[in-house]
Amino acid sequence: MGFLSKLFGRKKDEEKKEPLKIAEVEIDEILEKNEEISEEVKEKKETVQESIEKKVEKVEAKKEIEDDIKSEAIVEKNSEEAQVIKEVKEEKKGFFASLKDKLFKSREGLFGTLKSFILGRSVIDDEMYEELEDILIQSDIGMDMTVKIVKELEKEVKRRGVKDPKEVYPVLREVMEGFLIKENNEIHIEDGKLNVILVVGVNGVGKTTTIGKLASKYVKEGKKVILGAGDTFRAAAIEQLEEWANRAGAEIVKSTQGSDPGAVVFDTLVAAQSRGADIAIIDTAGRLHNKNNLMKELEKIHNIIKKKLGEQKYESILVIDGTTGQNALNQAKVFNEVTELTGFIITKLDGTAKGGIVFSISEEIKKPIKFIGVGEKIEDLREFNANEYIQAIFD
Ligand code: GDP
Ligand code: MG
Repeated sequence: MGFLSKLFGRKKDEEKKEPLKIAEVEIDEILEKNEEISEEVKEKKETVQESIEKKVEKVEAKKEIEDDIKSEAIVEKNSEEAQVIKEVKEEKKGFFASLKDKLFKSREGLFGTLKSFILGRSVIDDEMYEELEDILIQSDIGMDMTVKIVKELEKEVKRRGVKDPKEVYPVLREVMEGFLIKENNEIHIEDGKLNVILVVGVNGVGKTTTIGKLASKYVKEGKKVILGAGDTFRAAAIEQLEEWANRAGAEIVKSTQGSDPGAVVFDTLVAAQSRGADIAIIDTAGRLHNKNNLMKELEKIHNIIKKKLGEQKYESILVIDGTTGQNALNQAKVFNEVTELTGFIITKLDGTAKGGIVFSISEEIKKPIKFIGVGEKIEDLREFNANEYIQAIFD
């Protein structure tokens, strides 16, 4: 090889070698890059892993929180339910206990006297029946009813061959229960119709209070109730009914003191029909100068209701103060003449040691007792159930 060729050859070799070097460098660079990339990938992987872990953590935490909320809600719901159940139980217990408690004066009074009298006798004789008559008459049961009860008792005692005076007491209980009217004891409420309840009675017997209690009962049952302030005699009477309406969650239609009660009754029925009310309860005045005035006013009110309802029946309830005794019977007779009564509500039975009116009213005017008032509070109204009543005063 000549010098030149050698030179060139070497050059060529070097030239040949050059690209290799470049490639080596490139490879190194690439490898380095690769390493960097793989490092980056690793890092990225790690961060992704981390973020996944974090996300999982978050999801788990969220689930935990949700579970907590759910279980808390369940606990809350359970305790709410438990509370409701407790309240219902207490109300039930309260109802039975309280009917007995509320009538304790009658139980201790009239019926306590009856019991100790009968149990204290050693023989069943005429004297026993005579004394029994005295006790019953003193307890507002009235002469006619007393005679009927004692006659029936005598008959039953003989028929059953009862010899022991102690066994007379349960027979008396049965006989007295037998005289209570047990049909139509409910205020008739029909769904999908406007049910009208007209409430009448002399001043102070408890009409407005009873209307408030009734309204509360029906509102609690989910009914839409409108009260009509038909006692326009005193401004206080309208305010009193308004207070009860608010307490009960009922609506009220009222006018000013001294305005025509008939117009209030008419407006109440119009409002009740147009607002789709289920029940309209109408309060009336009890203090009118004389029987004629009362008759005229009540007749007018009845005619307005009849005209508005057509064939449809309505309740006309006489409220009687259970503490007024025989005078209550006279009231019942007067009101029954002027209004077609469908039944009675006897109030203030918590305040009397007699309570005989419950028996004599059924005898005097053959209409059922629908409710009894046993206190001044909103819940102090009980459906009248002959058996429950007897149980509460005899046992
Ligand atoms: P109204 O004039 O017929 O409307 O009679 P009120 O509704 O104004 O009642 C007259 C009084 O009797 C008020 O003090 C009532 O709180 C009370 N009263 C009503 N019902 C009862 C009851 O069932 N028991 C007791 N103890 N008081 C009652
Ligand atoms: Mg009143």
